[in-house]
Formats: sequence, structure tokens, C-alpha cells
Amino acid sequence: MKNIFKIKNISQFINESDDDSIIFSRSQIDKSFQLIILYPEYDKYSLFKKFFDAHGLGFIDVRKKIIYIDGSQMEDLTFDHLLAIQAHEIGHYKLKHKGNYSRAQELEADIYGIDTLNRLGHTKAAEFLSDRMYGMYTKKEIDTKRDKILK
Ligand SMILES: [Zn+2]
Repeated sequence: MKNIFKIKNISQFINESDDDSIIFSRSQIDKSFQLIILYPEYDKYSLFKKFFDAHGLGFIDVRKKIIYIDGSQMEDLTFDHLLAIQAHEIGHYKLKHKGNYSRAQELEADIYGIDTLNRLGHTKAAEFLSDRMYGMYTKKEIDTKRDKILK
């Protein structure tokens, strides 16, 4: 449980299990999604590790609407980072992405996520996602895709 205390707004993380290697919460972006943070101490962590290695800090099970976050990375994250991850992953769901996401689909999820965060007033989290996006894609790619996604 130690790592989680480094996150701001800790009170928003409720429903902690007795076993402190795993934390459940409703998504703070969209309550129809579940958020699960898995720490390395969790006995099935190794099963999830390969997905974290492939997708980064988090990934979504679109069938079950569950977003998994890698607890081993939590010390470096703020609450706004967590919001940014959730908004991006929910973007994959809303845009009906399946299987291994392409580079274009990752951009679409970023654009959708930034729009969602801004609409909800999470401007700091939107900035995190936006900074990352502009580091990975050209302005032309982003503008073209944004016109397609947010019409
Ligand atoms: Zn993604």
C-alpha cells in the first residue's frame, strides 16, 4: 500500500481490497468503467506483466470495461497522470479499437482522451496527454486525425 500514498487525492481511491497488492475503483472519468491497480506483490501480477510491457502503464479489457494500471509505476504518477491514462484507454473503447493497436489508433485514443479530459475540466491531465502526443506525432498528423475523430 505504501506506493499509493504518493498519489494526490488519495481519497478518491475507495474500495480497497483487504489484500493491499490490488486496488479497485470506479474510473474517475466514466463510472461505467472499473479501474484496477495491480502491484508486483499481487500473486497474479506476472500474468499481467506482459501486457504492461507491451502497452505501457495501463491497458483496457474492452469486453469487461476494466482498465488495468501497473502498480510498479505508481510512484512516478500523479492523480492527473492516472486520469490521462484512463481517458486514453476509454478512448480505445469508445472508438471500438480491437486487438493490437496501430500507431494511428494510439493517436486517435489520445485525441479522444484529451477532448474528454477538457470537457470534464481536467485540464492538467489533458496537458499531460497532449504533451506526450505532440512528442510522438507531427502537427499535421494530429490536425488531420482530430478533424476525423471530433467532427
Ligand atoms: Zn493506447
